[in-house]
Amino acid sequence: MNDLEKVRDWVRAARRIALLSGAGMSAESGVPTFRDAQTGLWAKFDPQQLATEAAFRAKPRLVWDWYAMRRELIARVDPNEGHLAVARFQAANPGRLTVITQNVDGLHQRAGSSGVLALHGNITEDQWLETPRSCCKVEAVEAGRPPSCAGCGNLRRPAVVWFGEMLPPDALARAEQAAAECELMLVVGTSGVVYPAAGLAYRAPGKVVIVNPEPTELDGAAHVVLRGRAAEVLPQLLS
Ligand SMILES: [Zn+2]
Repeated sequence: MNDLEKVRDWVRAARRIALLSGAGMSAESGVPTFRDAQTGLWAKFDPQQLATEAAFRAKPRLVWDWYAMRRELIARVDPNEGHLAVARFQAANPGRLTVITQNVDGLHQRAGSSGVLALHGNITEDQWLETPRSCCKVEAVEAGRPPSCAGCGNLRRPAVVWFGEMLPPDALARAEQAAAECELMLVVGTSGVVYPAAGLAYRAPGKVVIVNPEPTELDGAAHVVLRGRAAEVLPQLLS
């Protein structure tokens, strides 16, 4: 039996599966990286200087416009066969597979996955900058770059985790629980160096399978390493 068939059997047998995805998950979709997006007007800016709360407070329009540009780029790409295979598996096997992602592109959600734990947020969504007051109503925001509350001026900001910010505690707690309870963890397209990928993989009590065309930091901790791209391997594993 080859490794792919072995993992297919594990998928069939596992009552709970956790799938942890990183940038490689979206590679076939052509999502531009942080760096790729720095062209034209934006070439002179360093993403690490824009993706912070301090930058947004100092220059809210500049940071808002940068995110608007990145949102436009992401809106032009589509979920790939890997995202679609995950969503189909969830629909056919309710409650068996939890998606934990480091990606902010929202492609798992657009593919139809439910209950996605987006550890670094979702660039397609906004949230309040300050804790919302009773006047802060999402359905009545004042248009602008960025939009704001007509009552108190509270600003809308991209719902992503900025440099220096904590991961969303609720999503992180649920990801830790999913990792601790799963019988099979699929680690897809992540190098394993970005916190908290490694911690979640080491927490998994059952089988750990890496899907990645390149060697990763987590290969040593895996039961099987499948050298391939998410868009090719996941449809074979999850069909
Ligand atoms: Zn308000």
